[in-house]
Amino acid sequence: MGVKVIKFGGSSVADADQLRKIRSIVEADTDRRYIVVSAPGKRHKGDNKVTDMLIMLNAQAEGNIPYDQLFGTVKARYTAIAEGLGLKTDLDAWFDEIAENIEKGCSEAYIVSRGEYLSARLIAEYLNYDFVDTKNLVLFDSRGRLMVEETNEALKEEISKHEHAVFPGFYGGYAGTDEICLLSRGGSDVTGSLVARAADASMYENWTDVSGMLMADPGIVSKPLPIKYISYVELRELSYMGASVLHEDAVFPARMAGIPINIRNTNAPEDPGTVISREGGEDGEFIISGIAGKPDFTVISIYKNMMNKEIGFVRRALAIIEDQRINFDHIPTGIDSLSMVIESKELEDKLDDVLDSFRHQLRPDEIIVEDKIALIAVVGRRMHKSIGVSARICTALADKGINIKMLNQGTNEINVIVGVDVCDFEEAVRVLYKEFVR
Ligand code: ASP
Repeated sequence: MGVKVIKFGGSSVADADQLRKIRSIVEADTDRRYIVVSAPGKRHKGDNKVTDMLIMLNAQAEGNIPYDQLFGTVKARYTAIAEGLGLKTDLDAWFDEIAENIEKGCSEAYIVSRGEYLSARLIAEYLNYDFVDTKNLVLFDSRGRLMVEETNEALKEEISKHEHAVFPGFYGGYAGTDEICLLSRGGSDVTGSLVARAADASMYENWTDVSGMLMADPGIVSKPLPIKYISYVELRELSYMGASVLHEDAVFPARMAGIPINIRNTNAPEDPGTVISREGGEDGEFIISGIAGKPDFTVISIYKNMMNKEIGFVRRALAIIEDQRINFDHIPTGIDSLSMVIESKELEDKLDDVLDSFRHQLRPDEIIVEDKIALIAVVGRRMHKSIGVSARICTALADKGINIKMLNQGTNEINVIVGVDVCDFEEAVRVLYKEFVR
């Protein structure tokens, strides 16, 4: 027997019907003792997330615009849930307290955090679990940086007092104060991971509205297969390249403690979903785990005769983009050339200045800028030490007449990145999927 920490996202707590599903999921496994919840999300296309409504409500309150209507709409969401579940909760008292605090000029973080706070209180009541506020447990320093170890200690101590509990996700507080601090959007995933670490969980289950990760974007590849097992490192590579199921920061607390994360679907609880762990689990059928890509990069290539003999050249080139606060993704080099692969949005309004600095400070023979480059990551832990993966990538693309503009393999050998013209992007993803999967 182990402890499982389970997190339910916005669509899983959107209405009373969803909460009934949650109850069956919780009751199906007695290890599921600690629950982290989001604020109610969209019930259907075109619906509003409670968090978005609260952000808007705060803007209205700050701008002295009447917010009663929006306040009423938010209250109605929770009332419908409570009534739908037959709960006798005194929601008036909860909302009166919030209204009073808004009148007193409370912070935006307080208002926005009420989505998760109310959600967790209602769900705790419905499941007969304790409600545990995360305000004084998920701790931030005065600059809003998560205090990872202090949070772990505080959560650990609190968890030891509860057999079963529901925690609101997405927020905590500035250490030593009573002020709320929010995580970034989607941050309940992070709270779930922090609680999992503190509870020394055997599994962190993250319940959402998809049955785990897919091996490629279903908008590009028709019916891609699900990923059953993946390692933390592979997940990081794929999410960085746009395949997102979890908040970017959600992996590290679970990873620190070696706790596997299982992405599950509240609407299809029988599906096993994706398990993310240190080793990545059982050996799978395919040499790759997944393919992801982003279509909007710019490559700046700098050519200079005898560059390889000019000590400090790369450092000076990098200092220029650092001064401009530009993040780069890759720097493939040749003997007399250096390229920088940068997301195009990073260069907005800065490209001319960067090129001027390159010309003046590096005195190159030539600079060539190519935009509309797409990068595709072919990721798989089984690629490590296996021969011929890059060859297969190149041949498959060449056979379809797709030109490779860049090819980069990380030294960890779990990731090959190819750069192609943006017009070839989707076709290249399909070709690679076919080559390695089916
Ligand atoms: N409710 C917050 C959001 O919509 C946080 C979360 O759901 O994780 O971003």
